[in-house]
Amino acid sequence: MKTLRIVLMVSALVVLLAAAASTPTGYAHAAPAQRAPYMAGEALIGAAHGARDTVSARAELAALAARYRYLDDVSVTVGSAPEGKEAVAYYTSGRIVIDSAHTVSVETILAHEVWHIIDWRDNGRLDWGEYLPPAETDMYLKR
Ligand SMILES: [Zn+2]
Repeated sequence: MKTLRIVLMVSALVVLLAAAASTPTGYAHAAPAQRAPYMAGEALIGAAHGARDTVSARAELAALAARYRYLDDVSVTVGSAPEGKEAVAYYTSGRIVIDSAHTVSVETILAHEVWHIIDWRDNGRLDWGEYLPPAETDMYLKR
């Protein structure tokens, strides 16, 4: 009789432990343990992607500055553009920020954004709006 009671208590304990181990472990531990390295991996991929973008953006901007006037002191960084835009050109200060979540190529973005700066620096007005590059790009070639 005493042995049976111990067996019952032990088996009840095993059931309780199994229930305690399966439910909370399956959620609280397994999920974050798998998610944390995944998130870290995403962040690392994002950082590497941003660094590669910065290198190619600076090279592309240097090529445009060698070709066109008004771009010698312009800078480009990869960061956060407002309102979910691909990029933004601060045309008065000559800064271009490409959003790290851009979906268009760095080359395509810069081929647009530098013309906002050229547009402004040419005569202190924005004449072309978003019709960029303008038809008369040859007028702005360095000679
Ligand atoms: Zn634009």
